[in-house]
Amino acid sequence: MYDINKIRADFPILGEKIYDKPLVYLDNAATTQKPQKVLDAIFEFYSSINSNIHRGVHFLSEQASTAYEEARETVKKYINAKKISEIIFTQGTTDSINMVADSFGRACINQGDEIIISEMEHHSNIVPWQMLGEHKGAVLKIIPINQDGTLNLKRLKTLITDKTRLIAVTYVSNVLGIIYPVKKIIDVAHLRNIPVLIDGAQAVQHRPVDVQSLDCDFFAFSGHKMYAGTGIGVLYAKQKWLDTMPPYRYGGGMISSVNFEKTSFLKPPHNFEAGTPNIAGAVSLKAAIEYINYIGLKNITDQEMKLYNYALNRLSRLPGLTVYGKAENRCGALSFNLHDIHPYDAGSLLDKMGIAVRTGKHCAEPLMNRFKIQGSIRASFAMYNNKQEVDILIDGIKKVQQMLK
Ligand code: PMP
Repeated sequence: MYDINKIRADFPILGEKIYDKPLVYLDNAATTQKPQKVLDAIFEFYSSINSNIHRGVHFLSEQASTAYEEARETVKKYINAKKISEIIFTQGTTDSINMVADSFGRACINQGDEIIISEMEHHSNIVPWQMLGEHKGAVLKIIPINQDGTLNLKRLKTLITDKTRLIAVTYVSNVLGIIYPVKKIIDVAHLRNIPVLIDGAQAVQHRPVDVQSLDCDFFAFSGHKMYAGTGIGVLYAKQKWLDTMPPYRYGGGMISSVNFEKTSFLKPPHNFEAGTPNIAGAVSLKAAIEYINYIGLKNITDQEMKLYNYALNRLSRLPGLTVYGKAENRCGALSFNLHDIHPYDAGSLLDKMGIAVRTGKHCAEPLMNRFKIQGSIRASFAMYNNKQEVDILIDGIKKVQQMLK
């Protein structure tokens, strides 16, 4: 039995008032709110075991190191990685993708090589590849999307050539909420021995991810979109790639020995984690995953799907409103526009009603160009959202339409 009121009570911020109205937080694709368990874990870390990791022999340092490594183990289990060394802590999805672009890029991408991405990517899965292409003389190829927001997979097959070195695609669109058939893409790519990176920023909080059964080569995600603190994320990478990739950053914490003639590095994952990492962030990620497991990811998925379909259904029936994207499998985010009303104006008015939605290009300008729009309004859902909030959103939209028509 999914007790939504009990879950809501676990998130202190949901009790806040905005302009004297109850907060209706529908900007979860940007970042989720944090349950008390996560807040407590951060507080406890700093108030009772704060210390630097992997350096000291003293008690606190050992405790902090253990907490950090336990967090890695928790992540490994959550996405079912084969080895603990395949889990690298990063600052977030953006950092994870930059790490692959830089490190894999230096090792495996040469002049004339090709990298395939899609038209619906977030900027953080576009710009690192574009920059790599500029540095290395590599070519970026784009899988187009259809008018309904689905990927044109037939085109993918014709885009792949003997020069394709990597395919990087998003699992779930942060704009359309469409769940893309990444397993199919991975299978097609692997027939030609092409590695695949999955941007899982909008997937891990909504659906089970098993990197072994997906068989992806890289999988990137952020803690803060799955109820953990900001500034912590994960790059999963298959061991065989980590063994060929040079470190991304250099400094303390990643070397085994340094002298002026030669430096040698630790083994993965440590050679990819130079400097003092976000230890409290990792601890918060562990707490967030434990909280998700406690509620049950399957229960969360079922509840969110019911809510998503309810919202989609209600929005689609409103006159003067266009919802973007159509696909059977969707979750998380829902984007729409009100006819003849700028999304920013609508968002500002909704804000005054206590409703937090996102407006703008959602870091996906090529997708906006594809739909020939300046931007959109995005409502995005998490485990604690309820029908009442969707109703408040619908009423709010009607008011906006009356005020601005
Ligand atoms: N990819 C997708 C699909 C996203 O939704 C986001 C966040 N909006 C990112 C990448 C970047 O995540 P972060 O800002 O946490 O690095």
